[in-house]
Amino acid sequence: MIDLHSHTYESDGSCSPSELIEEAVRAQVDILGITDHDTFTGYDQALPAGRHAGVELVCGIELSTKLHGRAVHLLGYFLNQDGLSPFRDWVLELQASRRERNVRLVARLRELGFDINLEEVEARGRGMTGRPHFAQVMVAKGYVRDLRQAFDDYLDESAIAYVYRQEPQFNEGVERIRNAGGIASLAHPVRVNGDLPTLMPELCGWGLNALEAYHSDHSPADTQLYLELARKYGLLVTGGSDFHGAVKPGVKLGSGCDGNLQIPHDLLERLKSGGANASG
Ligand code: AMP
Ligand code: ZN
Ligand code: FE
Ligand code: FE
Repeated sequence: MIDLHSHTYESDGSCSPSELIEEAVRAQVDILGITDHDTFTGYDQALPAGRHAGVELVCGIELSTKLHGRAVHLLGYFLNQDGLSPFRDWVLELQASRRERNVRLVARLRELGFDINLEEVEARGRGMTGRPHFAQVMVAKGYVRDLRQAFDDYLDESAIAYVYRQEPQFNEGVERIRNAGGIASLAHPVRVNGDLPTLMPELCGWGLNALEAYHSDHSPADTQLYLELARKYGLLVTGGSDFHGAVKPGVKLGSGCDGNLQIPHDLLERLKSGGANASG
């Protein structure tokens, strides 16, 4: 089986990179894309285990971007060739700006009377510490009932503890991925706020060259729609479970929710040949 969308504990999954490879072997996934949020650390660390287990790894990343002011996830693939240090440097900059935001968020929460420090939040979130980890700490310390309340009352963009973070625009993400020779794929299009068919010309104009038509959140009708949009705009097609381990126990690597994922096994071949043609 093939699965081009998965997360390790280097972003918000629960598996270590080597545990993810073990999971791939168990699930009979022989081609695995690791697409942690805003980091390559999980992919880099999984390489030896992948080689040992005979699992072909595809280097990926899932960027958190803004499209017309709304959060949209963008997948980048094949970002492991030589000469990609500018892209990797940019990803490190994103991480630095996240950490700087976290310092300000700790200060804000302390100002509001909560005894929270950066170390305990980073113990949960590692290199990708974000608001969900702050929410976990607030629940653990009894400051809020649950994660929902942590966001509603404090961490949501509209709430009192929110502090601004510089996030890349969708078009900048696409441009950087394409300039690095990668494939830029719109992640789980079903979650895009707004009418995707209407947005497509704009997204394609920026250089988007793939759609994630296959995803655990997609119904057969959704997948059909995205395959048709991809065909209409001459885009490549990607697909994956969005496996997060115990964080989302209903989603299985390779097969999705109760086997709702059927990703054609030649997807990678088509991406490799199509990517070469499409990259201009
Ligand atoms: P960060 O990148 O640290 O700003 O955190 C963003 C993450 O926080 C998102 O990917 C969501 O998982 C989560 N998040 C943001 N807003 C909310 C909300 N209102 N309720 C629950 N989770 C949220
Ligand atoms: Zn995730
Ligand atoms: Fe996502
Ligand atoms: Fe994801």
